[in-house]
Amino acid sequence: MVYSLFSLLSIRLSNDLVRVLGLVLVCMATAHSTFAQRTYLVHSHNDYAQELPFWYAYSNGASSIEVDIFLKDGKLYVTHEEHEIVEGRTLETLYLDRLESLVLSGELREVQLLIDLKSEAYATLKKLVEVLGKYPSLTKDDKVKFVISGNRPKPDDYKKYPDFIWFDHQNLDELDTIDLSKVALVSVSFKNFTVWNGYGRMTANDFRAVSQAIQKAKSSGRPFRFWATPDTRTAWARLARLGVDFINTDEPALATQYLSSLDKNTYRLEKAREVYTPTYAYDKNAEPKNIVLMIGDGNGLAQITSAMIANRGHLTVTGLKNIGLVKTASHDDLITDSAAGATAMATGNKTDNRAIGVGPNGETLTNLISVTKEKGFNTAIVTTDAIYGATPSAFYAHRVERDDTPGLVKDLNNSGLDLFIAGGQNEESTIGNVFNPKDLNSFETLSKPTAIYLGDNKAPSMKNGRGNALPKSVGLALNALSAQKEPFFLMVEGAQIDNGGHANSTSDIVEEMLDFDQTIAEVLRFADANKNTLVVITADHETSGFGIVGGDVKEGTVQGDFLTVDHTGIMVPLFAYGPGADIFNGVYENTEVFQKIVSALKL
Ligand SMILES: [Zn+2]
Repeated sequence: MVYSLFSLLSIRLSNDLVRVLGLVLVCMATAHSTFAQRTYLVHSHNDYAQELPFWYAYSNGASSIEVDIFLKDGKLYVTHEEHEIVEGRTLETLYLDRLESLVLSGELREVQLLIDLKSEAYATLKKLVEVLGKYPSLTKDDKVKFVISGNRPKPDDYKKYPDFIWFDHQNLDELDTIDLSKVALVSVSFKNFTVWNGYGRMTANDFRAVSQAIQKAKSSGRPFRFWATPDTRTAWARLARLGVDFINTDEPALATQYLSSLDKNTYRLEKAREVYTPTYAYDKNAEPKNIVLMIGDGNGLAQITSAMIANRGHLTVTGLKNIGLVKTASHDDLITDSAAGATAMATGNKTDNRAIGVGPNGETLTNLISVTKEKGFNTAIVTTDAIYGATPSAFYAHRVERDDTPGLVKDLNNSGLDLFIAGGQNEESTIGNVFNPKDLNSFETLSKPTAIYLGDNKAPSMKNGRGNALPKSVGLALNALSAQKEPFFLMVEGAQIDNGGHANSTSDIVEEMLDFDQTIAEVLRFADANKNTLVVITADHETSGFGIVGGDVKEGTVQGDFLTVDHTGIMVPLFAYGPGADIFNGVYENTEVFQKIVSALKL
């Protein structure tokens, strides 16, 4: 159980700021992720230069907004330079009136306006105090935190200004000596400490200098901001993690969105799982007797890599030496779904998305279960999906629509499948006529055909307590199948890695992939004990365009990022082990998975 509270400051000012900045205390309680979830605040740098000043940053969640002003002819113009002044663009029209309209409609959230004085400090500030005097709804109770930056009076003069005027102090060396009672923010230029461009890492020396500056600034008890920072995702994340309170950016919408998912996208595995090292003591020229096809749904290379990093650099699957890359496009789309992806591997034919075991014209395709059955094999499916899910059903059914559950169940009952361990108990009354239901805990021998349910629809996710049900099911299935005199074909699916991708959840991806890897270990142990089993491990497609943008192998931490909530068209890896594994090396279409299995078995 881990929880964290966001806290900014410990002094009197802290309460004000926590309120002013509208911080929500985030309590995250989870037994799985050990990564604290915090709220990071975004500062819209040079906000007046946005196409829609104030509104763009404000509506996208920026907590601090910067406006440069210049006093000319008694007006406070919004501009960086005097010669760029545009009539009508004043502090009132672009900022104060907009803020006031929010007060009037009751929609103002707490926000800091960082006013950067570009003209002489004392005269501009005098005018500013006069102008703000016309907006009591904004100045009352620090509704808006007005913080003066740029040209400022001497620190000794800060306290001569009204209560609603605060200052941005820009000298770290003076923090110990000046009166901080009117200082609401400490800011310095990032360039004083490093030339880092926001890609990769700072040098160790620069990192130390930057960290020390942050510590020094924060020891004042005031929130801290760097300006002149690199404006990349890497920089936002690095500075946020270092404790910078306001992340400086010209892209407030992107930065707010990115930082709001930074901690959610980061996962740390508390304790590494044991991995199994295969012996390679099989005769690679022998003909395999049995075949185990393992499909990680949505299990791309990044999914595997993330689990490897979380597991301190080691997985069972990464100990394998016969490796292929599989092209996953379906017949009608570059991006396949699980139905077409599984149909390609189960039948050797490309079909349209949503189709199960039929071709693009609805024609029935011969699948691996019927091919192997015909040769006297026992056949079995173990999956964490429902037995009528798209991936398992492509191995036994023939339907043009993956959601035709009654049709799939009918095909299941006619398939001759000898064993399944899967979710889908909600269809037990229709399935149960044909299959003998058994309990996983007492399952030892095959009394054909056998059904064991892991849940109503899908089996529970790892996060919801599935525990070791998948590796255990596969172990029991292998025992029962190998006790028969016939050879066997077993399809195993780690179905819920895909769900982690669709949910853009790094933790779900890692936990489901690690469970799949534990299951792979179970199969490889069996293969090593029997030396007659070909094991093929692959995926139907990648899900979410998952990428790894940070982390630490020693700590088991992974920071992921996502392109989409859908599947992608990137090739997926394939690993093979056992007699016949060599033929799986190379780059090929998913339909060749079927053909290679058939040719390895000399069917
Ligand atoms: Zn999917």
